[in-house]
Amino acid sequence: MKHSTPRVGFVSLGCPKALVDSERILTQLRAGGYEVVPSYDAADLVVVNTCGFIDDAVHESLEAIGEAVAANGRVIVTGCLGAQPERIIERHPKVLKVTGPAAYEEVVGAVHEHLPPRHDPRFDLVPPQGIRLTPRHYAYLKISEGCNHRCSFCIIPSMRGDLVSRPITHVLNEAIRLRNAGVRELLVISQDTSAYGVDTRYRVEQWGSREIRTRFLDLARELGELGLWVRLHYVYPYPHVDEVLPLMAEGRILPYLDIPFQHASPRILKLMKRPAHAEDTLARIRRWRQVVPQLTLRSTFIVGFPGETEEDFGLLLDWLEEAQLDRVGCFKYSPVDGASANELPGAVAEEVKEERWHRFMQKQQAISKARLQAQVGQTMRVLVDAVEARTAIARSAADAPDIDGVVRVTGPGVTRLCPGEFAQVTVTSATDYDLKARLAPA
Ligand code: SF4
Repeated sequence: MKHSTPRVGFVSLGCPKALVDSERILTQLRAGGYEVVPSYDAADLVVVNTCGFIDDAVHESLEAIGEAVAANGRVIVTGCLGAQPERIIERHPKVLKVTGPAAYEEVVGAVHEHLPPRHDPRFDLVPPQGIRLTPRHYAYLKISEGCNHRCSFCIIPSMRGDLVSRPITHVLNEAIRLRNAGVRELLVISQDTSAYGVDTRYRVEQWGSREIRTRFLDLARELGELGLWVRLHYVYPYPHVDEVLPLMAEGRILPYLDIPFQHASPRILKLMKRPAHAEDTLARIRRWRQVVPQLTLRSTFIVGFPGETEEDFGLLLDWLEEAQLDRVGCFKYSPVDGASANELPGAVAEEVKEERWHRFMQKQQAISKARLQAQVGQTMRVLVDAVEARTAIARSAADAPDIDGVVRVTGPGVTRLCPGEFAQVTVTSATDYDLKARLAPA
């Protein structure tokens, strides 16, 4: 049977620096939905990270490439020896691509090209462009694989299995290495970040002189010690999520929560079998905002789910009005092969889905716009992603890369800013999705 998750084998040779590159590549591949497998046979493609420091290392690298080509056939070469592509091509003309040292964006791009990820915007943890173009100053940190829920519209658990949390020390070590490699912002992802560690029964591990648990709160607290921007994605509104709000209030992690609510009608949430579907989410949001008034909430929703009546949809619109979320995406329901929701009665006609989608978007756009407008005049810290002509494209704590808006910074001093640098800016105006700002006086 053809497996549905693209699988990559990885051979890493060379010094600790090459190892950091390997880890960075693996981090991004994992985040992008690739499975990293330990054998040539199980892999759809193999990446060999080479070393070219001394003759022995060159020899070893060329041998390793030869072995991978013979055993698997589809090989991408990176690393120090990749700086001399002709040596590799001469010996192994069948390699798919050769990239140089520390060129991890290129490697990930090459993997994408030769083994495309299976992108489904409804379930994927990173945006399609997120893997290839992730600048060096932010990184996706995947904390677990699989999922214990069984949402009726989703087939991820059948594809990737039940939740398997990475040990907290592995995740923290990876975060530290990413920080040491220049990363300024970590985007914590998994299918259910709030469930982190449930499968390990919150296993206790030694971290320096302390004991910490493999669980959501400990992870957020420890990541909050690293002096980075830490952004939590795919959190569900369980009561224990309340515990991380004080970390946001103290400025240890970003006051940002990405919660895929998907709907607000209790009946539809139940049909969807959503995690935490019985929680009073509006009350929870109100409490969170009391603790962290500047909290940014992002979410996604599905309209036109089987059985959704005009009354259910009305409940959703009322909920939106109350919840005042900042950033929202909305999908029209479409069946996914193998999902149990396909068996549900009450399919909603396409034109009704379309009409509800427009009403939903209209309502939310007005809310998002007003919330952005309210920020005009505020001074805030932003992280610069790029500098183009006389404008720095930056993001505030409220903006996750690629999925949220940006802050366009202009004015004196802007051209001296570099990607990956933090700056203080004062917001001068707002558009539908983005803010405009000027550098604040030092
Ligand atoms: S929480 Fe639901 S939608 Fe998300 S991966 Fe698990 S089953 Fe799928």
